[in-house]
Amino acid sequence: PERTRFAPSPTGLLHLGSLRTALYNYLQAKVTAGQFLLRVEDTDQTRLVPGAEEHLYQTLDKLGIKADESPKVGGPYGPYKQSERSDIYRKYVDQLLESGHAYKCYCSKDRLDDLRDSARALVPPSMASYDRKCAHGVASDSNNGEYVVRFKAPDLYPSYTDELHGQVNIQVQRNANDTRFDDIVLLKSDGLPTYHLANVVDDHLMKITTVIRGEEWMPSTPKHIALYEAFGWTPPRFVHIPLLTSVDNKKLSKRSGDIDVMSLLENGYLPEAILNFVLHFGWSHNHIQASDRIGLSRMEQIFDLKTLTKGNAKVDFSKLVYYNKHYMYGRIKNPGDKEWIKPYYEAMKKETGTTKTLDDCLTAMEIMKGSFGNVEEFVTTCRFLFERPMRPMLTLEEEKMVRTIAEAKDVKMGIAILDTRYDKKQIYQVLRKVIADGTPGASMDKIRWFLGKEEVQARLEGF
Ligand code: GLU
Repeated sequence: PERTRFAPSPTGLLHLGSLRTALYNYLQAKVTAGQFLLRVEDTDQTRLVPGAEEHLYQTLDKLGIKADESPKVGGPYGPYKQSERSDIYRKYVDQLLESGHAYKCYCSKDRLDDLRDSARALVPPSMASYDRKCAHGVASDSNNGEYVVRFKAPDLYPSYTDELHGQVNIQVQRNANDTRFDDIVLLKSDGLPTYHLANVVDDHLMKITTVIRGEEWMPSTPKHIALYEAFGWTPPRFVHIPLLTSVDNKKLSKRSGDIDVMSLLENGYLPEAILNFVLHFGWSHNHIQASDRIGLSRMEQIFDLKTLTKGNAKVDFSKLVYYNKHYMYGRIKNPGDKEWIKPYYEAMKKETGTTKTLDDCLTAMEIMKGSFGNVEEFVTTCRFLFERPMRPMLTLEEEKMVRTIAEAKDVKMGIAILDTRYDKKQIYQVLRKVIADGTPGASMDKIRWFLGKEEVQARLEGF
Protein backbone atom coordinates (compact mmCIF):
# COMPACT_ATOMS: atom_id res chain seq x y z
CA PRO A 1 0.00 0.00 0.00
CA GLU A 2 1.25 3.43 -0.93
CA ARG A 3 1.02 6.67 0.98
CA THR A 4 0.69 9.63 -1.31
CA ARG A 5 -0.04 13.27 -0.74
CA PHE A 6 -1.35 16.39 -2.35
CA ALA A 7 0.54 19.32 -0.89
CA PRO A 8 -0.93 22.56 -2.17
CA SER A 9 0.04 26.01 -1.02
CA PRO A 10 -3.14 27.99 -0.39
CA THR A 11 -2.11 30.81 -2.68
CA GLY A 12 -5.10 30.87 -4.98
CA LEU A 13 -7.82 28.86 -6.61
CA LEU A 14 -7.49 25.19 -7.48
CA HIS A 15 -6.72 24.91 -11.18
CA LEU A 16 -6.88 21.99 -13.56
CA GLY A 17 -3.20 21.13 -13.25
CA SER A 18 -3.38 20.92 -9.48
CA LEU A 19 -6.53 18.88 -9.66
CA ARG A 20 -4.72 16.39 -11.86
CA THR A 21 -1.91 16.14 -9.32
CA ALA A 22 -4.45 15.59 -6.56
CA LEU A 23 -6.37 13.02 -8.59
CA TYR A 24 -3.31 10.97 -9.59
CA ASN A 25 -2.03 10.91 -6.02
CA TYR A 26 -5.46 9.96 -4.77
CA LEU A 27 -5.82 7.18 -7.32
CA GLN A 28 -2.33 5.83 -6.71
CA ALA A 29 -3.18 5.51 -3.01
CA LYS A 30 -6.53 3.89 -3.71
CA VAL A 31 -5.32 1.45 -6.34
CA THR A 32 -2.75 0.14 -3.85
CA ALA A 33 -5.20 0.18 -0.93
CA GLY A 34 -3.10 2.85 0.74
CA GLN A 35 -3.71 6.34 2.10
CA PHE A 36 -4.03 9.69 0.45
CA LEU A 37 -2.98 12.74 2.47
CA LEU A 38 -3.78 16.38 2.06
CA ARG A 39 -1.08 18.60 3.48
CA VAL A 40 -1.35 22.36 3.44
CA GLU A 41 1.97 24.02 2.69
CA ASP A 42 1.45 27.46 4.09
CA THR A 43 4.90 28.44 5.31
CA ASP A 44 5.27 31.33 2.92
CA GLN A 45 2.98 33.66 4.79
CA THR A 46 3.43 36.46 2.28
CA ARG A 47 1.79 34.44 -0.50
CA LEU A 48 -1.26 33.21 1.38
CA VAL A 49 -4.63 34.16 -0.03
CA PRO A 50 -7.49 34.43 2.47
CA GLY A 51 -10.14 31.83 1.82
CA ALA A 52 -7.97 29.78 -0.52
CA GLU A 53 -7.70 26.88 1.90
CA GLU A 54 -11.44 26.68 2.44
CA HIS A 55 -11.96 26.92 -1.31
CA LEU A 56 -9.60 24.01 -1.80
CA TYR A 57 -11.51 21.77 0.61
CA GLN A 58 -14.81 22.67 -1.00
CA THR A 59 -13.59 21.96 -4.51
CA LEU A 60 -12.10 18.57 -3.66
CA ASP A 61 -15.21 17.74 -1.69
CA LYS A 62 -17.46 18.43 -4.64
CA LEU A 63 -15.37 16.16 -6.80
CA GLY A 64 -15.44 13.36 -4.25
CA ILE A 65 -11.69 13.29 -3.66
CA LYS A 66 -11.50 12.44 0.01
CA ALA A 67 -8.31 12.59 2.00
CA ASP A 68 -7.62 9.87 4.54
CA GLU A 69 -5.51 12.31 6.52
CA SER A 70 -5.74 16.09 6.34
CA PRO A 71 -6.02 19.24 8.47
CA LYS A 72 -9.77 18.64 8.44
CA VAL A 73 -9.95 14.96 9.32
CA GLY A 74 -6.69 14.72 11.24
CA GLY A 75 -4.61 11.56 11.33
CA PRO A 76 -1.69 9.91 13.09
CA TYR A 77 1.03 12.12 11.59
CA GLY A 78 -0.50 15.56 12.07
CA PRO A 79 -0.73 18.40 12.23
CA TYR A 80 -1.17 18.49 8.47
CA LYS A 81 -0.70 22.19 8.15
CA GLN A 82 2.90 23.31 7.94
CA SER A 83 2.32 26.55 9.81
CA GLU A 84 1.47 24.40 12.84
CA ARG A 85 4.65 22.34 12.63
CA SER A 86 7.35 24.96 13.32
CA ASP A 87 8.74 23.15 16.34
CA ILE A 88 9.19 19.99 14.32
CA TYR A 89 11.19 21.75 11.60
CA ARG A 90 13.32 23.51 14.20
CA LYS A 91 14.25 20.17 15.67
CA TYR A 92 15.38 18.78 12.31
CA VAL A 93 17.28 21.94 11.47
CA ASP A 94 19.17 21.54 14.73
CA GLN A 95 20.01 18.03 13.71
CA LEU A 96 21.56 19.26 10.46
CA LEU A 97 23.41 22.05 12.28
CA GLU A 98 24.93 19.51 14.61
CA SER A 99 25.95 17.10 11.89
CA GLY A 100 27.57 19.92 9.92
CA HIS A 101 25.13 19.74 6.99
CA ALA A 102 23.80 23.18 7.75
CA TYR A 103 25.05 26.45 9.18
CA LYS A 104 23.73 29.77 10.38
CA CYS A 105 24.17 32.67 8.01
CA TYR A 106 24.16 36.21 9.38
CA CYS A 107 24.74 38.01 6.10
CA SER A 108 22.65 41.10 5.51
CA LYS A 109 20.12 41.34 2.73
CA ASP A 110 22.28 43.95 0.97
CA ARG A 111 25.29 41.68 0.98
CA LEU A 112 23.25 38.79 -0.38
CA ASP A 113 21.76 40.99 -3.08
CA ASP A 114 25.24 42.08 -4.15
CA LEU A 115 26.44 38.47 -4.21
CA ARG A 116 23.48 37.44 -6.33
CA ASP A 117 23.97 40.29 -8.76
CA SER A 118 27.64 39.53 -9.24
CA ALA A 119 26.94 35.81 -9.70
CA ARG A 120 24.37 36.53 -12.39
CA ALA A 121 26.76 38.95 -14.08
CA LEU A 122 29.33 36.20 -14.68
CA VAL A 123 29.64 34.65 -18.13
CA PRO A 124 28.02 32.17 -18.04
CA PRO A 125 25.97 33.35 -15.09
CA SER A 126 26.14 31.35 -11.91
CA MET A 127 22.83 30.40 -10.40
CA ALA A 128 24.65 29.44 -7.22
CA SER A 129 25.38 32.67 -5.48
CA TYR A 130 26.50 32.25 -1.92
CA ASP A 131 30.21 32.53 -1.06
CA ARG A 132 29.96 30.59 2.20
CA LYS A 133 31.27 33.41 4.27
CA CYS A 134 29.26 32.21 7.25
CA ALA A 135 30.03 28.54 6.81
CA HIS A 136 33.12 28.87 8.95
CA GLY A 137 31.51 30.52 11.93
CA VAL A 138 30.65 34.20 12.24
CA ALA A 139 30.00 36.41 15.25
CA SER A 140 26.36 36.04 16.17
CA ASP A 141 25.98 39.75 16.85
CA SER A 142 26.32 40.65 13.18
CA ASN A 143 23.13 41.57 11.32
CA ASN A 144 21.47 42.31 14.68
CA GLY A 145 21.67 38.63 15.49
CA GLU A 146 19.26 37.84 12.68
CA TYR A 147 20.14 34.76 10.72
CA VAL A 148 18.90 32.12 8.34
CA VAL A 149 19.99 28.50 8.32
CA ARG A 150 21.59 27.31 5.11
CA PHE A 151 22.08 23.85 3.78
CA LYS A 152 25.67 22.98 2.98
CA ALA A 153 24.96 21.78 -0.51
CA PRO A 154 27.09 19.09 -2.08
CA ASP A 155 29.36 20.15 -4.95
CA LEU A 156 27.32 17.95 -7.21
CA TYR A 157 23.69 17.22 -6.63
CA PRO A 158 22.70 13.58 -6.64
CA SER A 159 20.96 12.22 -9.68
CA TYR A 160 17.80 10.24 -9.19
CA THR A 161 15.41 7.98 -10.98
CA ASP A 162 12.10 9.41 -11.92
CA GLU A 163 9.36 6.90 -12.46
CA LEU A 164 8.34 8.59 -15.69
CA HIS A 165 11.53 10.24 -16.96
CA GLY A 166 14.10 7.68 -15.96
CA GLN A 167 17.53 8.81 -14.76
CA VAL A 168 17.52 12.54 -14.08
CA ASN A 169 20.60 14.61 -13.41
CA ILE A 170 20.02 18.29 -12.84
CA GLN A 171 22.84 20.49 -11.63
CA VAL A 172 22.56 24.09 -10.66
CA GLN A 173 24.55 26.12 -13.10
CA ARG A 174 27.85 27.12 -11.53
CA ASN A 175 30.72 28.97 -13.06
CA ALA A 176 33.69 26.63 -13.43
CA ASN A 177 36.26 28.37 -11.22
CA ASP A 178 33.55 29.61 -8.97
CA THR A 179 33.64 29.61 -5.23
CA ARG A 180 29.94 30.15 -4.93
CA PHE A 181 27.55 27.51 -3.77
CA ASP A 182 23.88 26.79 -4.00
CA ASP A 183 23.47 26.69 -0.26
CA ILE A 184 19.73 26.97 -0.12
CA VAL A 185 18.03 28.47 2.88
CA LEU A 186 16.27 25.94 5.09
CA LEU A 187 15.05 28.16 7.86
CA LYS A 188 14.13 31.78 7.28
CA SER A 189 14.93 34.60 9.69
CA ASP A 190 11.35 34.52 10.97
CA GLY A 191 11.98 30.97 12.15
CA LEU A 192 9.73 29.42 9.51
CA PRO A 193 11.06 26.73 7.18
CA THR A 194 11.39 27.10 3.44
CA TYR A 195 9.43 24.89 1.08
CA HIS A 196 12.41 22.56 0.57
CA LEU A 197 12.95 21.77 4.22
CA ALA A 198 9.32 21.47 5.24
CA ASN A 199 8.47 19.36 2.20
CA VAL A 200 11.26 16.86 2.84
CA VAL A 201 10.75 16.62 6.59
CA ASP A 202 7.02 16.15 6.18
CA ASP A 203 7.21 13.61 3.39
CA HIS A 204 9.56 11.64 5.59
CA LEU A 205 7.62 11.94 8.84
CA MET A 206 4.31 11.30 7.11
CA LYS A 207 5.79 8.17 5.54
CA ILE A 208 5.04 9.20 1.98
CA THR A 209 6.11 6.46 -0.42
CA THR A 210 5.49 8.12 -3.78
CA VAL A 211 5.48 11.79 -4.69
CA ILE A 212 3.53 12.65 -7.81
CA ARG A 213 3.90 16.29 -8.73
CA GLY A 214 4.20 18.61 -11.71
CA GLU A 215 7.34 18.85 -13.82
CA GLU A 216 7.88 22.38 -12.59
CA TRP A 217 9.21 20.83 -9.39
CA MET A 218 11.91 18.77 -11.12
CA PRO A 219 14.72 21.26 -10.45
CA SER A 220 13.89 21.07 -6.74
CA THR A 221 14.12 17.32 -6.51
CA PRO A 222 17.95 16.97 -6.48
CA LYS A 223 17.99 19.40 -3.58
CA HIS A 224 15.41 17.31 -1.82
CA ILE A 225 17.35 14.12 -2.42
CA ALA A 226 20.50 15.79 -1.07
CA LEU A 227 18.53 16.70 2.04
CA TYR A 228 17.30 13.14 2.45
CA GLU A 229 20.89 12.00 2.23
CA ALA A 230 22.03 14.55 4.80
CA PHE A 231 19.36 13.30 7.20
CA GLY A 232 20.21 9.70 6.42
CA TRP A 233 16.69 9.01 5.18
CA THR A 234 15.44 7.06 2.19
CA PRO A 235 13.68 9.34 -0.30
CA PRO A 236 10.27 8.45 -1.69
CA ARG A 237 9.71 7.56 -5.34
CA PHE A 238 9.28 10.57 -7.57
CA VAL A 239 6.99 10.94 -10.54
CA HIS A 240 6.97 14.28 -12.28
CA ILE A 241 3.98 14.66 -14.53
CA PRO A 242 4.04 16.73 -17.72
CA LEU A 243 2.81 20.26 -17.93
CA LEU A 244 -0.58 21.11 -19.31
CA THR A 245 -0.64 23.09 -22.51
CA SER A 246 -3.31 24.53 -24.71
CA VAL A 247 -4.39 22.68 -27.84
CA ASP A 248 -1.85 24.62 -29.90
CA ASN A 249 0.90 23.61 -27.49
CA LYS A 250 1.24 26.94 -25.75
CA LYS A 251 1.49 27.49 -22.05
CA LEU A 252 -1.95 27.22 -20.57
CA SER A 253 -3.54 30.60 -20.08
CA LYS A 254 -6.83 31.65 -18.65
CA ARG A 255 -8.13 31.93 -22.19
CA SER A 256 -6.94 28.55 -23.32
CA GLY A 257 -8.43 26.78 -20.37
CA ASP A 258 -6.38 27.33 -17.27
CA ILE A 259 -9.58 27.75 -15.44
CA ASP A 260 -10.10 27.11 -11.80
CA VAL A 261 -12.12 24.03 -11.07
CA MET A 262 -14.80 25.79 -9.07
CA SER A 263 -15.67 27.97 -12.07
CA LEU A 264 -16.07 24.83 -14.14
CA LEU A 265 -18.51 23.45 -11.60
CA GLU A 266 -20.33 26.76 -11.63
CA ASN A 267 -20.54 26.54 -15.38
CA GLY A 268 -22.47 23.32 -15.02
CA TYR A 269 -19.72 20.79 -15.62
CA LEU A 270 -20.51 17.75 -13.54
CA PRO A 271 -17.83 16.36 -11.22
CA GLU A 272 -17.80 13.06 -13.15
CA ALA A 273 -17.10 14.90 -16.39
CA ILE A 274 -14.33 17.00 -14.89
CA LEU A 275 -12.66 13.94 -13.38
CA ASN A 276 -12.72 12.08 -16.69
CA PHE A 277 -11.35 15.10 -18.48
CA VAL A 278 -8.51 15.49 -15.99
CA LEU A 279 -7.76 11.77 -15.75
CA HIS A 280 -6.95 11.64 -19.44
CA PHE A 281 -4.39 14.46 -19.33
CA GLY A 282 -1.27 12.49 -20.09
CA TRP A 283 -2.71 9.13 -19.26
CA SER A 284 -3.54 6.42 -21.69
CA HIS A 285 -4.60 3.04 -20.52
CA ASN A 286 -4.44 -0.02 -22.74
CA HIS A 287 -8.06 -0.78 -22.27
CA ILE A 288 -9.42 2.68 -21.73
CA GLN A 289 -9.69 5.04 -24.66
CA ALA A 290 -9.76 8.78 -24.22
CA SER A 291 -13.36 8.68 -25.25
CA ASP A 292 -14.30 6.17 -22.57
CA ARG A 293 -16.06 7.46 -19.54
CA ILE A 294 -15.48 5.93 -16.17
CA GLY A 295 -16.56 6.80 -12.67
CA LEU A 296 -14.24 7.56 -9.80
CA SER A 297 -14.66 4.13 -8.25
CA ARG A 298 -13.63 2.49 -11.51
CA MET A 299 -10.65 4.83 -11.76
CA GLU A 300 -9.68 3.69 -8.29
CA GLN A 301 -9.44 0.15 -9.59
CA ILE A 302 -7.60 0.59 -12.83
CA PHE A 303 -5.28 3.56 -12.37
CA ASP A 304 -1.74 2.64 -13.30
CA LEU A 305 1.25 4.96 -13.02
CA LYS A 306 3.02 2.98 -15.72
CA THR A 307 0.60 4.20 -18.32
CA LEU A 308 1.30 7.90 -17.76
CA THR A 309 2.63 9.51 -20.90
CA LYS A 310 5.62 11.78 -21.09
CA GLY A 311 4.53 14.41 -23.58
CA ASN A 312 2.86 17.63 -22.59
CA ALA A 313 -0.82 17.13 -21.94
CA LYS A 314 -3.06 19.16 -24.20
CA VAL A 315 -6.15 20.60 -22.64
CA ASP A 316 -8.88 20.28 -25.22
CA PHE A 317 -12.09 21.72 -23.89
CA SER A 318 -14.27 20.11 -26.50
CA LYS A 319 -13.54 16.86 -24.65
CA LEU A 320 -14.89 18.26 -21.44
CA VAL A 321 -18.08 19.28 -23.22
CA TYR A 322 -18.26 15.79 -24.69
CA TYR A 323 -17.95 14.10 -21.30
CA ASN A 324 -20.40 16.50 -19.77
CA LYS A 325 -23.05 15.90 -22.41
CA HIS A 326 -22.79 12.24 -21.70
CA TYR A 327 -23.04 12.52 -17.94
CA MET A 328 -25.84 15.02 -18.29
CA TYR A 329 -27.99 12.34 -19.93
CA GLY A 330 -27.64 10.21 -16.84
CA ARG A 331 -28.36 13.03 -14.43
CA ILE A 332 -31.42 14.15 -16.33
CA LYS A 333 -32.79 10.64 -16.16
CA ASN A 334 -31.85 10.29 -12.53
CA PRO A 335 -31.76 13.79 -11.09
CA GLY A 336 -31.01 12.93 -7.46
CA ASP A 337 -30.70 15.95 -5.19
CA LYS A 338 -31.05 18.44 -8.07
CA GLU A 339 -28.27 20.59 -6.68
CA TRP A 340 -26.49 20.19 -10.01
CA ILE A 341 -29.36 21.87 -11.86
CA LYS A 342 -28.94 25.11 -9.96
CA PRO A 343 -26.14 26.65 -12.04
CA TYR A 344 -28.27 26.04 -15.14
CA TYR A 345 -31.44 27.35 -13.59
CA GLU A 346 -29.85 30.39 -11.98
CA ALA A 347 -28.10 31.39 -15.20
CA MET A 348 -31.30 31.06 -17.21
CA LYS A 349 -33.21 33.05 -14.64
CA LYS A 350 -30.61 35.78 -14.67
CA GLU A 351 -30.66 35.97 -18.46
CA THR A 352 -34.40 35.81 -19.04
CA GLY A 353 -36.03 36.69 -15.73
CA THR A 354 -38.15 33.57 -16.11
CA THR A 355 -40.68 32.69 -13.43
CA LYS A 356 -40.40 29.00 -14.23
CA THR A 357 -39.20 26.68 -11.46
CA LEU A 358 -36.18 24.48 -10.98
CA ASP A 359 -38.29 21.48 -11.93
CA ASP A 360 -39.39 23.22 -15.11
CA CYS A 361 -35.73 23.73 -15.83
CA LEU A 362 -35.14 20.00 -15.48
CA THR A 363 -38.02 19.35 -17.87
CA ALA A 364 -36.52 21.77 -20.37
CA MET A 365 -33.20 19.96 -20.07
CA GLU A 366 -34.91 16.67 -20.75
CA ILE A 367 -36.59 18.06 -23.86
CA MET A 368 -33.39 19.57 -25.17
CA LYS A 369 -30.86 17.00 -23.95
CA GLY A 370 -27.87 16.51 -26.15
CA SER A 371 -28.01 20.06 -27.42
CA PHE A 372 -25.88 21.62 -24.68
CA GLY A 373 -22.76 20.65 -22.78
CA ASN A 374 -22.52 23.44 -20.22
CA VAL A 375 -24.42 26.37 -18.78
CA GLU A 376 -23.43 28.76 -21.51
CA GLU A 377 -24.66 26.45 -24.24
CA PHE A 378 -27.81 25.71 -22.28
CA VAL A 379 -28.68 29.39 -22.02
CA THR A 380 -28.09 29.88 -25.73
CA THR A 381 -29.93 26.87 -27.07
CA CYS A 382 -32.76 26.63 -24.55
CA ARG A 383 -33.50 30.25 -23.95
CA PHE A 384 -36.57 30.12 -26.23
CA LEU A 385 -38.25 27.85 -23.70
CA PHE A 386 -38.03 30.53 -21.02
CA GLU A 387 -38.42 33.74 -22.97
CA ARG A 388 -40.47 34.68 -26.00
CA PRO A 389 -38.04 34.96 -28.92
CA MET A 390 -38.04 37.82 -31.42
CA ARG A 391 -40.28 37.34 -34.39
CA PRO A 392 -38.22 35.69 -37.13
CA MET A 393 -38.12 36.90 -40.74
CA LEU A 394 -40.85 35.08 -42.64
CA THR A 395 -41.71 34.94 -46.29
CA LEU A 396 -45.17 36.09 -47.28
CA GLU A 397 -46.25 32.54 -47.70
CA GLU A 398 -44.94 31.54 -44.29
CA GLU A 399 -46.71 34.54 -42.79
CA LYS A 400 -49.94 33.24 -44.28
CA MET A 401 -49.36 29.76 -42.91
CA VAL A 402 -48.73 31.08 -39.42
CA ARG A 403 -51.86 33.20 -39.58
CA THR A 404 -53.93 30.19 -40.53
CA ILE A 405 -52.69 28.24 -37.56
CA ALA A 406 -53.12 31.19 -35.22
CA GLU A 407 -56.68 31.72 -36.38
CA ALA A 408 -57.51 28.07 -35.83
CA LYS A 409 -56.69 28.72 -32.15
CA ASP A 410 -55.39 25.20 -32.00
CA VAL A 411 -52.12 24.07 -33.52
CA LYS A 412 -53.29 20.55 -34.39
CA MET A 413 -56.35 21.95 -36.09
CA GLY A 414 -54.28 24.53 -37.93
CA ILE A 415 -51.89 21.89 -39.15
CA ALA A 416 -54.82 19.83 -40.40
CA ILE A 417 -56.10 22.78 -42.41
CA LEU A 418 -52.70 23.49 -43.93
CA ASP A 419 -52.10 19.83 -44.55
CA THR A 420 -54.23 19.89 -47.69
CA ARG A 421 -52.01 22.52 -49.34
CA TYR A 422 -48.50 22.03 -47.89
CA ASP A 423 -46.38 19.10 -46.95
CA LYS A 424 -45.85 18.31 -43.27
CA LYS A 425 -42.18 19.09 -43.33
CA GLN A 426 -42.81 22.58 -44.53
CA ILE A 427 -45.48 23.20 -41.93
CA TYR A 428 -43.31 22.03 -39.07
CA GLN A 429 -40.43 24.11 -40.30
CA VAL A 430 -42.51 27.26 -40.06
CA LEU A 431 -43.87 26.28 -36.67
CA ARG A 432 -40.37 25.67 -35.38
CA LYS A 433 -39.28 29.05 -36.66
CA VAL A 434 -42.03 30.92 -34.89
CA ILE A 435 -42.47 28.90 -31.72
CA ALA A 436 -38.98 27.53 -31.08
CA ASP A 437 -36.79 30.27 -32.53
CA GLY A 438 -35.80 27.82 -35.25
CA THR A 439 -34.00 25.59 -32.74
CA PRO A 440 -33.51 22.15 -34.26
CA GLY A 441 -33.63 18.81 -32.55
CA ALA A 442 -36.30 18.56 -29.92
CA SER A 443 -39.82 17.41 -30.74
CA MET A 444 -42.29 20.21 -31.50
CA ASP A 445 -44.97 18.44 -29.52
CA LYS A 446 -42.87 18.44 -26.39
CA ILE A 447 -41.91 22.05 -26.91
CA ARG A 448 -45.55 23.10 -27.29
CA TRP A 449 -46.47 21.15 -24.23
CA PHE A 450 -43.70 22.82 -22.23
CA LEU A 451 -44.66 26.32 -23.35
CA GLY A 452 -48.36 25.83 -22.82
CA LYS A 453 -51.23 26.64 -25.14
CA GLU A 454 -51.41 30.28 -24.23
CA GLU A 455 -47.74 31.00 -24.86
CA VAL A 456 -47.82 29.07 -28.12
CA GLN A 457 -50.81 31.09 -29.27
CA ALA A 458 -49.07 34.31 -28.30
CA ARG A 459 -46.01 33.37 -30.33
CA LEU A 460 -48.20 32.53 -33.33
CA GLU A 461 -50.04 35.79 -33.11
CA GLY A 462 -46.94 37.82 -32.47
CA PHE A 463 -46.91 39.77 -35.72
N1 GLU B 1 3.49 23.24 -2.05
C1 GLU B 1 3.92 22.80 -3.34
C2 GLU B 1 2.87 23.27 -4.34
O1 GLU B 1 2.25 24.24 -4.08
C3 GLU B 1 4.07 21.31 -3.31
C4 GLU B 1 4.96 20.77 -4.37
C5 GLU B 1 5.22 19.31 -4.10
O2 GLU B 1 4.32 18.52 -4.36
O3 GLU B 1 6.26 18.99 -3.58
O4 GLU B 1 2.65 22.73 -5.38
